[in-house]
Amino acid sequence: MNRVKPREIILKGISGSPGICIGKAYIVDREGVNIIERYQVSGAMVSQETDRFKNAVAKAKKEHARIIKALDKDVSETLNILETHMALFKDKMLYGKTIETIQKEQINAEWALRKVSRQVKLMFQQVDDQYLKARANDIVQVSDKIMSYLLGARDIKIADINKRVIIVAHDLSPADASQIQLERIKGFVTDRGGKDSHTGIVAKSLKIPSVFGLARATTSINNDDILIVDGSSGIIIINPDEDTLFKYEERLARFEAYRADIERESHLPAVTRDGVVLDLMANIELVEEVVSAKDNGASGIGLFRTEFLYLDLERFPTEEELLVKYRELAELMTPQPVTIRTLDINGDKFNPYIDPVEEVNPSLGLRAVRFCLENKDIFITQIKAILRAAAFGNIKLLIPMISCMEELQQVKAVINQAVSDLEHENKIFNKDIDLGIMIEVPSAVLMADELAKEVDFFSIGTNDLIQYSLAIDRRNRRVAHLYQALNPSVLKMIKLTFAAARKNNIDVVMCGEMAGDPINIPVLLGFGIKNLSMNSASIPVIKKMIRSIDFKKAGKFSEKLLEFTTVQEITRFIYEEYKDILPYRETED
Ligand code: PEP
Ligand code: MG
Repeated sequence: MNRVKPREIILKGISGSPGICIGKAYIVDREGVNIIERYQVSGAMVSQETDRFKNAVAKAKKEHARIIKALDKDVSETLNILETHMALFKDKMLYGKTIETIQKEQINAEWALRKVSRQVKLMFQQVDDQYLKARANDIVQVSDKIMSYLLGARDIKIADINKRVIIVAHDLSPADASQIQLERIKGFVTDRGGKDSHTGIVAKSLKIPSVFGLARATTSINNDDILIVDGSSGIIIINPDEDTLFKYEERLARFEAYRADIERESHLPAVTRDGVVLDLMANIELVEEVVSAKDNGASGIGLFRTEFLYLDLERFPTEEELLVKYRELAELMTPQPVTIRTLDINGDKFNPYIDPVEEVNPSLGLRAVRFCLENKDIFITQIKAILRAAAFGNIKLLIPMISCMEELQQVKAVINQAVSDLEHENKIFNKDIDLGIMIEVPSAVLMADELAKEVDFFSIGTNDLIQYSLAIDRRNRRVAHLYQALNPSVLKMIKLTFAAARKNNIDVVMCGEMAGDPINIPVLLGFGIKNLSMNSASIPVIKKMIRSIDFKKAGKFSEKLLEFTTVQEITRFIYEEYKDILPYRETED
């Protein structure tokens, strides 16, 4: 029987990390701790699948009944909630609809359950009634319970995928992305996610193409569909026709040749045409990334995001565990600097064991230094480990998300406490290390002159500075088009920060993703920035760019640039002036 060739479909999303890959789709989904596959079932399998679902519900109910029975009768509120959940297990909307979906759509039970629970949740959330809104959460919790029985031993881990595939997921957390086995996975695409999210940052460092915010990827793609992922332009093509495939195979070859070319030059110094030497450092999330940082020609670690060590464990790491990692990093890099940033948890890097409170607006919530100041024992443990590791290399201490002077004062008090604890404990440590703060909240920019008097360096975190200045959630695909590094207000913030640092004679590093995008480089050099830290994978391209720019000329250029009031004009002005040295873009042919 001739199979009808599926039609080519193009979906537009947001560029997660650059590059092109072509391969077969592998659909997974991440809900809670499990990854959910989608596959078709037919014939006798349909009733097997229905039975599997019914069995999972029965087991989940039994376990639930056991919990209720063991409950102390004094906790009547908890009892009420659990009894509500008991009724929901056999709720028509959840139970009946899931069975109907398995049978009608001939899909596996996990996928059907996920689909139905999302629909029910959405329905409840749209109702203008607080009680019913709260029911949405109950539905999710009950369906998660059933899901865990459904998945049972078949829980897939990203790290276990052993095919050369492109992952298609509803969403992937940064921790999931970091589990990707490079030799197996060619790229990944997701329904959710926005610009400069932490998942994108991990993908860039792995050098695998990714596209986020596609909205319909998991519903439009089937397992084994051929996919083209164009991470640079943020599009994917499902079941491409022959002409498209041919065109992209050529582009892929060109891109790889270009990458090899710039990587060959990555060990040359980052010096401008008129002899100004810059420091290009790497942002890393795991100690293992030091190899890639060095291979790409980094002159130090400008940002070590420490969250991942915490997210991987089921509990908080001890001082000794942290010390082992930090010391290893310091020794591997010495004499080059390593900037260790204290825990920046709860924005989009969230783990229920760390803070089980779900916030409505986590980016504006108890994130980063705010969380650490509320949990001083965790904070002090980390600072002690950093000070101890500083005895073995060139370590700097960086505090994220400072938004006012009081926070900085409190941080200093915690550091003093850590020093005095270490003295009492007779530990070897080094307290004479540089202290820096991230400038990533507009209030810190406006207070930069005062804050500069209290610290040794600033690190401009443009990922958040853009998010908070323009009020754009960096994970939200619907407003991703407004997330613009070259927005004149963002440029003014950077200029102000730099001026305050210069006035107070302290160093400035830029460590947001903005530093790794070639189009921004003439502007940043024009502002006088000499220290940039970025994803290791971006270093060779940025180095090449810097080596073609005249520092003095860039200064005059940026002054003129700030006369423009729109992103469009600013972008055009940069292209006009620097088009000959801007790197190859896959979309231009
Ligand atoms: C930033 O906000 O620019 C930054 C570097 O930190 P993160 O991306 O980890 O929030
Ligand atoms: Mg940040």
